[in-house]
Amino acid sequence: MDETQSQVADPTEPIPLHLLPQGCGVGRDGALWIRGQRVSDLVKEFGTPLFIYDEEQIRSRAKELKAHFGSDVAYASKAFLCKAMARLVDEEGLHIDVASGGELSVVLSVGFPPERIVMHGNNKSVAELELAISAGVGRIVIDSFDEIERLESLIPRGHPIEVWIRVTPGVEAHTHEFIMTGQDDSKFGFGLLSGDAKIALDRLKLSERLNLVGLHAHIGSQIFSLDSFVKEVEVLAPFFASAGVEELNFGGGLGIPYVSGEPVIEFSDWAAALKDSVKAAGIPSSARIMVEPGRSLVGPTAMTVYEIGTIKEIQGIRTYVSVDGGMSDNPRPVLYGSGYETFLVDSVFARRERRVTVVGKHCESGDILVKEGQLPSAAKVGDLLATPVTGAYGYSMASNYNKVGRPAVVFVNNRGYRLVLRRETVSDLLSLDLG
Ligand SMILES: *Cc1c(COP(=O)(O)O)cnc(C)c1O
Repeated sequence: MDETQSQVADPTEPIPLHLLPQGCGVGRDGALWIRGQRVSDLVKEFGTPLFIYDEEQIRSRAKELKAHFGSDVAYASKAFLCKAMARLVDEEGLHIDVASGGELSVVLSVGFPPERIVMHGNNKSVAELELAISAGVGRIVIDSFDEIERLESLIPRGHPIEVWIRVTPGVEAHTHEFIMTGQDDSKFGFGLLSGDAKIALDRLKLSERLNLVGLHAHIGSQIFSLDSFVKEVEVLAPFFASAGVEELNFGGGLGIPYVSGEPVIEFSDWAAALKDSVKAAGIPSSARIMVEPGRSLVGPTAMTVYEIGTIKEIQGIRTYVSVDGGMSDNPRPVLYGSGYETFLVDSVFARRERRVTVVGKHCESGDILVKEGQLPSAAKVGDLLATPVTGAYGYSMASNYNKVGRPAVVFVNNRGYRLVLRRETVSDLLSLDLG
């Protein structure tokens, strides 16, 4: 992180352009464009709230990851998944992670090569495991002793499948630092310190149906400190050496900037930190090193556009700006207290002098999108407001709370744009309801 990035910017400055999808530009009138499309025109066609993804940027980020890690990159599909996204990941030649039968079904529906699918989950059902086995997914990541039994009971003799075990390394990454947890207090995986990982390893060596080929770990999400990954490598290396396997997956978790002042960590720096520490830890160069980014691949590539519905100024206290979505399309602020920036789509270069709290339309006081936001003082009802960096864990965590339909999702590329997920309608909402 260099000096300029670490300085806290004047909050009244216009939205920093580096937070917007890469293909964004600004017209002479101050209106936002993306890859040749005027954003307000996309809104006219598809309505609000609207997720707009820069497809070219997802592809270029995927290519960049591949340049650093080879094809041994698995996209963690829980960050954002639909058919178009699964197809894109396939076309870019990456692997894909799924963690439920639903995610697996979406990925299989586009003909994704099963050998490049990795199946995670701490409580995969028999039906989910059967689907994974019959589809021929490349790797199933075993998460518990119960799962060893469950999986063995499903595999016919003479047809072993290749598996990894998930190891809980006792390294817990927080945004800016890591801590070593004394005991492995996690619902995921086999604890390294408790000795469970070793027991699982010995157990699998005896299995005729499960062929252990690798280890997997994932230390957290939105991690800005590369030291956390270095620590993960150091902790896993001796166990990897003792395991006698070839594949070692360090998970995802690389952090991305959401608000001004947060650092950009390049994939090249992440790759260098991992590769250098792998070497320093004496892991042989023949080992297959893998990663599974979710957020860092798609997070920066999208924004959500809303329409302002009401503005309520409480003298001396706060100004509430209500938009037509909220915690149903972006629960991260409620779940994690996450911060976002906001700006007006038709006045990108306007100074944002007005301190506001952007809230949704749900029946919760906690339904906040941007707690400490800044907007131009001219912001008014009917204006289009956007929050950038909503490409990960927004749509994928969306809900129907208050029977509000999920937004539409548009992919924009250099040749045009297309709707990849249509807006949910009232009949969609009623379709499950048998009265
Ligand atoms: C969520 C998850 C990831 C991706 O995490 P990001 O922070 O989005 O990069 C990777 N691997 C596993 C096992 C996960 O659960």
